[in-house]
Amino acid sequence: MTSAAAATETAAGGDAPRVIYTAAYGVIGPEQRWVERPVVEVDARGVITRVGCAGDPEHSDAPARPDAPPRSEAIVHDLGDSVLLPGLVNAHSHAFQRTIRGATHARGAGDPSDFWSWRAAMYEAAGALDPEGVYAITRRCFAEMLDAGITCVGEFHYLHHGPDGTPYDDPAELSRQVIRAARDVGLRLALLEVYYARAGAGSPPLPEQRRFVDASVEAYLRRVETLRAEADGDALSIGLAPHSVRAVPEPALRELAEHARARALVMHCHVSEQPRENEECAAEHGCTPTQLLARAGCVDPERPGAFTAVHAIHVDDRDRALLASSNVCACPTTEADLGDGIVLASRYMSQGTTIALGSDSNSVIDLLQEARLLEMHERLQARARLRLAGPDGQVGRHLLAAATRGGARALGRPELGQLAPGSPFDAITLHTRHRALLGVEGRHLLDAIMLTATSAPIDRVFVGGARRR
Ligand SMILES: [Zn+2]
Repeated sequence: MTSAAAATETAAGGDAPRVIYTAAYGVIGPEQRWVERPVVEVDARGVITRVGCAGDPEHSDAPARPDAPPRSEAIVHDLGDSVLLPGLVNAHSHAFQRTIRGATHARGAGDPSDFWSWRAAMYEAAGALDPEGVYAITRRCFAEMLDAGITCVGEFHYLHHGPDGTPYDDPAELSRQVIRAARDVGLRLALLEVYYARAGAGSPPLPEQRRFVDASVEAYLRRVETLRAEADGDALSIGLAPHSVRAVPEPALRELAEHARARALVMHCHVSEQPRENEECAAEHGCTPTQLLARAGCVDPERPGAFTAVHAIHVDDRDRALLASSNVCACPTTEADLGDGIVLASRYMSQGTTIALGSDSNSVIDLLQEARLLEMHERLQARARLRLAGPDGQVGRHLLAAATRGGARALGRPELGQLAPGSPFDAITLHTRHRALLGVEGRHLLDAIMLTATSAPIDRVFVGGARRR
């Protein structure tokens, strides 16, 4: 169903009808201002042309100046008792891991209950998928994301080859299945193509890792460039993703950094999710993973926002300083599930690092829960409240920014995650009469959404002006 078809009030328009959306409350503009009666005007291409509040004179439908040409009439779509927010941006996902939801919570005889035993279960699931299987689980996962208000996902994709590591006839076969799933669901996709070379320092890949491994950096970059040539930069964009410093040796990190810099591509990497990764990095390189990534040119202060450290939990002050102009993607439901530790977002935010959010293992798909846990994990650790309030004191506002603009910056799509002129109309509504929000005063609604609710009240999802839910 398109937005035009969903309109509740219709006026005869010109050839290219504008749609004007209004709602009870909303967050508008690049500064993400909370307003009553937001007005968002969208053109026929699904791009926002004006935003404001119902009372603003410039948002009446009269021509702005007497000599201005008359505007075509608009379809007015009143979204009713709703809060209108930018679409959520999920900066880190492994869609296929949705397969093992619920399957790793009972201990078998003699199993250790650590991250690495969870990884063994995940590898088993990865090994069993053929191309149609990758498509089916990715489509299911992306459809669930769309229902949860996610309008753009960064898929950190490392399942590339056949089960024994032999490339498919088309080396991009499985990447194309991910692209197909996103297209069929109607979700924007930033495909973060992963480079993976080894099990660890001096260790060839384990048999169950062969599907992830390319023959060389050149073979990997050939696939990246093939996919980039087919990406439109709108529904699909491509980024580079060395899996981790455990899986990628330093010379390869340098080559990838050079390739990303020359083509202005974003780069994502798992960083310091587990202490063991730091210990192995110290033994091999004599430094931390973040310091190695900076040494190799992946963390590049001359390209602010181009690098995203996923997790960045077990870091020291020097690491944090190196990440000042980068992004850190926290994935709190997964980090809790796997016993990784806590991303100290307050420390990052106070030095200007952008925080993004990811659903990572997709055992939970709900970016509002990710946002809430970002704050709550710090409360539990510090035994204090309002950890992410920032100078303006508004926790909910900062959490919304992480779930929208933070992810957009991390994925190299700064126009997303905001309802602002020039941005596509990627938007969601939450029904204020949903039982989770019923009775909440308007001035408290944003905090109720970001700090107490789940995605359950989300009842409409628009991507590029088209209604997808
Ligand atoms: Zn991950």
